[in-house]
Parts: sequence; C-alpha cells; structure tokens
Amino acid sequence: MSEVKGLIQNRFPDGLIFTSADQLINWGRKNSLWSMTFGLACCAIEMMAAGGTRYDWDRFGVIPRATPRQSDLMIVAGTVTLKMATRVKRLYEQMAEPKYVISMGSCANNGGPYWKHGYHVLKGVDEVIPVDVYVPGCPPRPEALLYGIMKLQERIQEDRVLRKREATVGSLAGATLDGATDGVAK
Ligand code: SF4
Repeated sequence: MSEVKGLIQNRFPDGLIFTSADQLINWGRKNSLWSMTFGLACCAIEMMAAGGTRYDWDRFGVIPRATPRQSDLMIVAGTVTLKMATRVKRLYEQMAEPKYVISMGSCANNGGPYWKHGYHVLKGVDEVIPVDVYVPGCPPRPEALLYGIMKLQERIQEDRVLRKREATVGSLAGATLDGATDGVAK
C-alpha cells in the first residue's frame, strides 16, 4: 500500500552485497525515526509522557517534528473520529517515504470504548492508513509505547530495501519478524 518507488528500490535478488546494504540502510532508518507531533485524545498524554524526561524516547532516535513533510513516523494516539479520519489520511499522505505507523491505544486500534455506540468514531485507523504496529491499552502506558517502538525497529531492521519483496499490506511490506506476532501487523 505504501511501497517506495525509485530507481533502485526492490529491484535486486538476494545476495551478499544487497543484503549488507539493506542491513546498513535499515540500521540508519530504525535509529532515526522522526515522529509527527500530533495527538487526538487521552492516549496522546501518555505519548507525550513517553517523550518526556522520565521515559525519554530520544534514546531510541525518536525526534518529534512539527510538520508531516519532515516526519516518517505517525503515532496515532487517541480517538479517530470520522471527521478527523480524513485529516489523518491527508497528513499520512504528506509524510516522507518510507513512513511507518504505530496505532496507539484501543480507540485507534478498533474504536475502543466507542466500538458499539460511537456512531462518530472510526473502528480502527487501519481503515484509512496502513498500520505497522498496534499498541493495546486504554490508555497504554509509556512503557507500552516504547515497546511498540522497539517492535517497529525490529521490523524495520528486517525490511527489504534494495532486495525484491512481495507486496503485502502495511508500509513495511515484506518485512518479517520470526516468532513475534503480538501487536505486530502481518
Ligand atoms: S484508548 Fe482510552 S485512553 Fe486512549 S484515546 Fe481511547 S478512551 Fe482515551
């Protein structure tokens, strides 16, 4: 859904040089995640705490940016109303490639407490944009978000940048994570 287009991306077979190049590129990408500064509801408070001094997500290379054009990580933290869904999609489309999405909290994952009677709430942000990692909770604590970021980093490290890959849903199409399924989109 979010495949990167270019002259050299995903054009080569497996091989020593391309495998090593992929590892180097992925290492750089996973340690320089620039997250877009925005939040939608109460989960965003926990997200802000994750960026504060106590949890300090700068340690993972996560640097908030104030514009989608300089961001490659969207953390959807909060309730996605139908009114906001189109804005979220617009912001995602404005972000730089390659880009990743973490769905934080029950509301963003599947509508949360608004699942049954929330006529105005989207039943999962993955209905409008591809999600790479889901963080459960209402709200998830900052530790849970940091765990989700680490899971995303593991997936980025396994991504196929130059080597050929098969198309799947999610921005990390083709990335695999052996043995891990919890909270990670497949
Ligand atoms: S999942 Fe819970 S804490 Fe997070 S935005 Fe929804 S209601 Fe608020």
